[in-house]
Amino acid sequence: MSTKYKRDPDSTKILREKNIEAEAAKPREVDKSPGVRLEINAEDIRKRLFPEPALIKRKINYMVLRDQEKLLVEWDSDLYDLIVDTYINPSKHGRGALHATGDKKKKNLYMSDVSKCPREIFYAFFEPETARDYTFKGLCFFGDGNMHHEDIQSRLKTARLARNPEGYLELDDPHCTGYYDDLIHIKYDEKAGIEYCDMVEIKTKMPSAIDNVKQSDYDQAQLYHYAAQHSKRLKSKNIKIQNIVLIYKDRSLMSNKIFGTFRVQPDPDRCVDVLNYFRWLEKMVVGEKFLCAHPYERKSTKCQYCKFVEHCWAKIALPPVKLADVDTLIAGAADAELVDSLAQKLRELITLEKDISKEIKTLTPAFLGYMLSKKLVDIAINETEKFTVRHKNTTEWNRDFLKQKIGEKYYSFISTPNAALIKDLIKRFDADASVFEQAKTIKQSKPFLAITKINNSVETEEKEEEETNAD
Ligand code: SF4
Repeated sequence: MSTKYKRDPDSTKILREKNIEAEAAKPREVDKSPGVRLEINAEDIRKRLFPEPALIKRKINYMVLRDQEKLLVEWDSDLYDLIVDTYINPSKHGRGALHATGDKKKKNLYMSDVSKCPREIFYAFFEPETARDYTFKGLCFFGDGNMHHEDIQSRLKTARLARNPEGYLELDDPHCTGYYDDLIHIKYDEKAGIEYCDMVEIKTKMPSAIDNVKQSDYDQAQLYHYAAQHSKRLKSKNIKIQNIVLIYKDRSLMSNKIFGTFRVQPDPDRCVDVLNYFRWLEKMVVGEKFLCAHPYERKSTKCQYCKFVEHCWAKIALPPVKLADVDTLIAGAADAELVDSLAQKLRELITLEKDISKEIKTLTPAFLGYMLSKKLVDIAINETEKFTVRHKNTTEWNRDFLKQKIGEKYYSFISTPNAALIKDLIKRFDADASVFEQAKTIKQSKPFLAITKINNSVETEEKEEEETNAD
């Protein structure tokens, strides 16, 4: 990885000279047709580009640059390495470390820790060296996040909404700090000399996440509400906070809205829960160095994105993998010399299968529609088989009725009613089976076509019944 941008001047020069040579050696098309050569001047070109209305009617003239088959370009790996290095080693390139990545060793709780796993918080305090390094992609996310923050702050400022970009919030009990992104002026109470503002928190998100407020952002906003009430800094400036405003920005620009803007009001009950959680973190995780059990599964999104994942799960062995039995496949392996032709054949068959399946999907509803419109249950295909209109039956359970009839205690054994659990309950407690019968509704699925036997009534399709639940 280079730290100084040094392009190898010869690589580009040699390539360029080779290209010029190759271009010069190419045979050019020469117009050898006899007759008068068309002299084109600027006026002709203008006429062709902007034809008179009369010409347009007869013939459309236009000129476009078509794509070339091959472009004379080369990958500039030196420049790529340099850009990557500005993220990985910013100080070498005269840039400060990205603010959002912060110091690896945690010194106090942040209000944004509300979304973090308590084990992650433990490691950040006491074993920060076990964190994996940020990936280049992760560093790009941080860099882009900062850029989005600054852009939104500057827009609010030029729109004369911003009151005082960024600021600290601090709580004594539980001790934690927060960092809001802006204050939006709402009104000024001249009599009391108090300015009312909304506090802004900006977050960059995936496109699917900008429509709804995430619980952890809501919880962080509750901490901001509480901290703002107790902030000496805001009090000294005679500022009162009305709401916490969350601004989400779709970092990929893939959604239609791009922004999500939400006003979060104070929710005292939730605030108590969040404060209690932080008190527990402060007392147990930070104070008593308590490393709690794993609250998430190794495969969870939380763990996959966690920078302590390797260290955190190091002592828990990966589940053993029972390898699939491939012996029979190996026993039936094709001869090596047939493999090429088999590959071709298999490709053709898969294409054919797709075409056939497409056709079945078109013909089936038409055929089924005909049978339903004529109220026909069967249509014979040949002497032994027929097409039959079938339905799948699903059972819906009236949970409230069940709870009322069998009581909360027994209902808790089958909290999600299904046939197997109910059968077991009836057997173990000699329950009245008719109660369950009364709580059922059988719902038919959309009709489908089945091929059934004509003579002996042995049907090819097994009767299927699925369990679903409904209140
Ligand atoms: S890997 Fe998972 S369980 Fe471990 S600290 Fe990270 S989020 Fe928590």
